[in-house]
Amino acid sequence: MRTFAFSAAENVDQAIIACESNNAEASYIAGGTTLIDLVKLDVMRPERVIDLNRLPLKEVERLDDGRLRIGALVSNTDLAHHPLVTQHYPLLSQALLAGASTQLRNMATTAGNIMQRTRCPYFRDVAAACNKRDPGSGCDALGGINRMHALLGTSEHCIATHPSDMCVAMAALGATLALEGPNGVREIAFGDFHRLPMDRPDLEHELEPNELITHITLDTPVVGGGSHYLKLRDRASYEFALASAAVVVAVEDGVIRDARLALGGVATKPWQAMEAEQALTGQPAKTESFEKAAEIALADALPREHNAFKVPLARQAILRALEKATQAAMNS
Ligand SMILES: Cc1cc2nc3c(=O)[nH]c(=O)nc-3n(C[C@H](O)[C@H](O)[C@H](O)COP(=O)(O)OP(=O)(O)OC[C@H]3O[C@@H](n4cnc5c(N)ncnc54)[C@H](O)[C@@H]3O)c2cc1C
Ligand code: SF4
Repeated sequence: MRTFAFSAAENVDQAIIACESNNAEASYIAGGTTLIDLVKLDVMRPERVIDLNRLPLKEVERLDDGRLRIGALVSNTDLAHHPLVTQHYPLLSQALLAGASTQLRNMATTAGNIMQRTRCPYFRDVAAACNKRDPGSGCDALGGINRMHALLGTSEHCIATHPSDMCVAMAALGATLALEGPNGVREIAFGDFHRLPMDRPDLEHELEPNELITHITLDTPVVGGGSHYLKLRDRASYEFALASAAVVVAVEDGVIRDARLALGGVATKPWQAMEAEQALTGQPAKTESFEKAAEIALADALPREHNAFKVPLARQAILRALEKATQAAMNS
């Protein structure tokens, strides 16, 4: 492991100044559950690490307009069990608790979860060719073992999945990120934050140099909505998704009034299935509508040698999550 300079910031301004000083390759650290692993593997090589843990960004609060504002440093455990989340956004709670392990969730933060890097094994192996880690070097996953890799949003330069569960729920719920950096404060829609790999898989998000995430604000909850997060994986705990589906639906007189659908484990970014959402709206809350939506959501799926099984798996995840969310909506 390479050595790095370490400092702890007391406030956001101090963190930004520390990050941009000395022209050194710098990185923020929160829970450290992604960063330290990757530093040990020599995949990330920060010369300076700025600890954010003393920043006053650990609150969850309901805004006057009904939205929920989450501080960047709220731990995954605290967020999953927060009464405002369990009551108004049970989907988010379910997704968080489906991720990692209790110990990891205690350390992991909301912003760190959004910023976590892919679990592609070639990205994590410095002896492999990887355009994301070393732009222009190639992609060993394309002709290698690509069982865990993505079907949607891929390019000939990268087929790695975004591994987060929490982000899939946020994509379905709708959210806005508050960012702060040397050029001031700005906001960005959650759906616009993560980038598709295209020909620059190393550029993963819209954060500018030295900018940090300060808050995540969830949209107002869907009135009368039911929800469900379904994660399918190789073992029941401590494992990343092979396919997951996050659904929120509101049903009136047996007809879907509002539908949100996002997918995980199968896409290069948290994947909002917008065309499928539109197809569901106004349709009877029945299996035929769910099947049509699943077909639309996966129409652009591009399987590789080892991951074709993910197409029917994702289809089942969508169908089951839609059934469960619809039942919850009709019982609410
Ligand atoms: C064994 C294992 C299993 C896991 N399983 C799952 C799983 O099943 N599902 C799942 O969703 N996740 C899983 N994870 C990932 C885990 O959720 C993330 O590692 C965690 O959420 C990262 O948060 P952190 O605070 O520890 O981030 P850190 O490691 O501190 O930081 C990660 C990145 O985010 C940046 N960063 C942190 N805070 C900010 C900020 N405020 N603004 C800008 N940049 C910031 C850092 O610079 C760094 O680049 C697993 C992790 C491990 C190690
Ligand atoms: S899929 Fe992406 S992360 Fe994995 S080796 Fe290829 S370029 Fe790297």
